[in-house]
Amino acid sequence: MKAAVLQGPRKIEIENIPDPEVEPDGVVVKVRASGICGSDLHPYKLSITKMVLGHESSGDVVAVGRNVSHIHEGDRVAAINIRPCGKCYWCRHERQEICTRLKWPPSPTMPGAMAEYVSIPFTRVGNYDTVVRLPDSLSYEQGATVEPLSIALFSITRAQVQPEDTVVVLGAGMIGLCVAQVLKAIGVSRIIISGRRSKRLELARASGADVVVDAATEDIVPVVKEVTSGAGADVVVECAGVQVTFDQAMRIVRRDGKVVMLGIFEKDVTWSPNIPINRNTTMIGCLGEDFPGTVDLLATGRADTRPFITHEFPLDRVQEAFETQLTADGAVKVLVKP
Ligand SMILES: [Zn+2]
Ligand SMILES: [Zn+2]
Repeated sequence: MKAAVLQGPRKIEIENIPDPEVEPDGVVVKVRASGICGSDLHPYKLSITKMVLGHESSGDVVAVGRNVSHIHEGDRVAAINIRPCGKCYWCRHERQEICTRLKWPPSPTMPGAMAEYVSIPFTRVGNYDTVVRLPDSLSYEQGATVEPLSIALFSITRAQVQPEDTVVVLGAGMIGLCVAQVLKAIGVSRIIISGRRSKRLELARASGADVVVDAATEDIVPVVKEVTSGAGADVVVECAGVQVTFDQAMRIVRRDGKVVMLGIFEKDVTWSPNIPINRNTTMIGCLGEDFPGTVDLLATGRADTRPFITHEFPLDRVQEAFETQLTADGAVKVLVKP
């Protein structure tokens, strides 16, 4: 099959590699759409290890493992390849989704979905359904956005956000925008979002944000102070993963409030733990999925990720797709369609 193989920093080539084989608890999917994630851009910029990127995929099931009975050949699905170790404490206690050696894509030893086919080694990983059927009303393109929306849904559920909360979202990339839609879907009445690039801010407004702050020209801190009469936000969702937004999160969360850590940090930050100690801040780390809940959000129209899909490229132009995701001002979610 044809696969987009990362060769080194900012260099991807199409190679012919062996077709994947189905594993006993998994499926093989013919990929129809595959989204480029921020976590793909980190290795794209830096890695010198050869690998096939992509984990936000949808497509058709073409092979089913012998232990799988709830997914069938021909099913249209959204899927993610996650591999637990099968041996650690959590794997032995049926919590494989928090396996201590859980392998998430991108990984050099687990080829991703920027290819004609992808092997999904497990259709269930502990509490996660990692392969879910798409209703006919959802396109493959929407199917490829299930994974990022699922990350947002998992995090907001985990943080037990309430409709009466004032919630600040820091970062208006794909994840921040998905968080805004999830907040709107659960009825949060006051959503403030801070980000950059006009296209993203426009989408933030359309996604239900009540206050949109252009981080390039405006400081979120006094805005939150004013909106909350000096109290601070009940919940801050950090989706940018940089020092500036981390500091902002600590400053704008109210006493006894929650900071939801969702953005992946490329660099470590410096911080004073005394601030959350003194303010009784709850910091909540989030990395998890809820595919069935996400498909339900999309199928019922309570979330709609279609406006976030700004670019689509065929597999042969995958390099251009990655450059677009990395550098184009108007890019939110770039899809590759093998
Ligand atoms: Zn992702
Ligand atoms: Zn394990």
